[in-house]
Amino acid sequence: MNYDDPIDINPLQYDHAVAIADGIWWVGFYMENDVFQCHPYLIEHGDQSVLLDPGSSLTFNHTLRKIEEVIPFSKIRYFVCHHQDPDITGVLPLIDKLISRDDAVIVTHWRAMALLKHYALKTPFWLVEEHEWKLDLGGRLLRFVYTPYLHFPGAFVTFDTDEGVLFSSDIFGGFSENWSLVAKDESVFDGIRLFHEHYMPSREILIMGLSKLEALPIKIIAPQHGSIIPPHLVGFIMGKLKGIDCGLYLLSETETGIHRLSLINRILRDIMETMVIYRDFHDIANAITEIARRVLPVATLEFYAVGDDGAVIYFSPANRYRAVASNPDSGLAKILGVDRKSWITENTRLYKEIDMSEEVKGLVIPLFSPVRQVANAIAIFYLDHNVPITEDISQMLKHLDMPLEVALEREFIYQRLDMERQKIYDQSIKDQLTGLYNRIYMRDTTKRLFSLNDRDDGYIVALIMFDIDHFKKINDTFGHVSGDEVLRKVAEELINQTRKSDLAVRLGGEEFIVFLVGLSVCHALETAERIRTSVSELQFDGDMKNYRVTISAGLTFRKQQENLDDCIHRADVLLYQAKNGGRNRTCSDIP
Ligand code: GH3
Ligand code: MG
Ligand code: MG
Repeated sequence: MNYDDPIDINPLQYDHAVAIADGIWWVGFYMENDVFQCHPYLIEHGDQSVLLDPGSSLTFNHTLRKIEEVIPFSKIRYFVCHHQDPDITGVLPLIDKLISRDDAVIVTHWRAMALLKHYALKTPFWLVEEHEWKLDLGGRLLRFVYTPYLHFPGAFVTFDTDEGVLFSSDIFGGFSENWSLVAKDESVFDGIRLFHEHYMPSREILIMGLSKLEALPIKIIAPQHGSIIPPHLVGFIMGKLKGIDCGLYLLSETETGIHRLSLINRILRDIMETMVIYRDFHDIANAITEIARRVLPVATLEFYAVGDDGAVIYFSPANRYRAVASNPDSGLAKILGVDRKSWITENTRLYKEIDMSEEVKGLVIPLFSPVRQVANAIAIFYLDHNVPITEDISQMLKHLDMPLEVALEREFIYQRLDMERQKIYDQSIKDQLTGLYNRIYMRDTTKRLFSLNDRDDGYIVALIMFDIDHFKKINDTFGHVSGDEVLRKVAEELINQTRKSDLAVRLGGEEFIVFLVGLSVCHALETAERIRTSVSELQFDGDMKNYRVTISAGLTFRKQQENLDDCIHRADVLLYQAKNGGRNRTCSDIP
């Protein structure tokens, strides 16, 4: 056969044995309207000839006729069965009767033999693993390669070392809607992909098998299904096959249409990939909406979930899937909290169609918590009322609940962790009683403020140190609880009278410091005075009703390059002056 011009094969030739390499013949039969063409091959080697994957009674009379075009059937000594499926071995009982020579054998693997022996044949088995995985025909060497689980645990393939032909059994097999004996071009891969997705158990196992075959100097691949792969396509198909995924079809229980299975398969794979790749719930929800849109005109995907505290939170694309408190309407609320057992008894499907309005319906999927088996959350796909829910859509929805449940659960855990982290951080930088920042935070933050001040003397940092006057007397007279209340109220005033960009700190006891940034000299003094005045006007309840709290202040400006302790010390000295000067006043070193 001339593979340089592979397209030019006369269909009439299919009615005869076709030489695909020197001494190698295709002896199959083209079954019309069958996407699953099965191919036996003949290696012509005198009275040591080999028939590979003989076939079934559906086709064998044609195969026998074609063999006899090449050699008498009695010349065949070896009958290779790469596995035990009936499309390969169904005809063995007939062959057993036809065999007239004593030395004929059935070449197979022990795992296939375990099943084939039930044909009760008189022809003995010749096991590849007992013969170092090779067969010397006398001047022509066949090597066998073990390819477990592709698609049968005992599956193997045969390599003809003379011609570089790989009899690949199910690997490289393909479905063929427009069949041709030899693959015409790269498009043959579409059928190969479908076939492998469908029959091979997993990507890892397929790649493991392919890596063994890659080591062989293959020129032509002669699979048992689909088309023969000519030399110029071998590398291409090998590469493409390594990139596909397989095995997921098994998740689909009812579907039998290959193309639709393939669509579902891709959806399932993409859902799983989404779960692996994305961490952010927002990304996961968006990706799953996109995937769903391939089979369903979904407008939006939304979620309701019940938190540990019983409060319902709501996720929608409108709020970028950030949780907000919101209650679902009564139809949805009924599903939230339902337990799996009663859901299954009441509903034939995992999802429920609910009319949201005249135009819009929701496909609601309860997301059951794995531990309590209660719907802690629901996912709702919103779509047009008229969209019929086909079997494909059902299949997809059926497989969405688990990943969505995992994604939501994960989101909950992240949010809880985030809240905890925020709480711990807040506790570490803030004073418990007043909520003002503490010394630790002051040290950190002033580093940043001071470096700006060092770079640009126009960026002014003012320090106002405050101390409550006669605070000890307040404690002594009204008690510590009242004292605490005074501290809180004074702190509140510090916050109220300064800007967000300023920094108010409780240094300890009844001492506070405020850092004002970017304010001019006179504005800083104004602020200090405003704080002092507003504190003196504070109103208290109970015993303290008529008591006026006053504070004293020391105001200064940080000098460039000055460290924190030095400038605080200068402010403290000014504060001491204010105390000595009679309290309830501000002292500053402004000239
Ligand atoms: P001066 O006008 O000179 O500042 O007098 P003072 O009484 O305000 O100053 P002094 O430093 O003598 O007293 C401060 C008091 O503040 C002593 C301490 O018991 C009290 N104190 C410190 N921390 C707290 C607190 O968190 N709550 C309460 N209620 N009192 C506190
Ligand atoms: Mg004091
Ligand atoms: Mg004091």
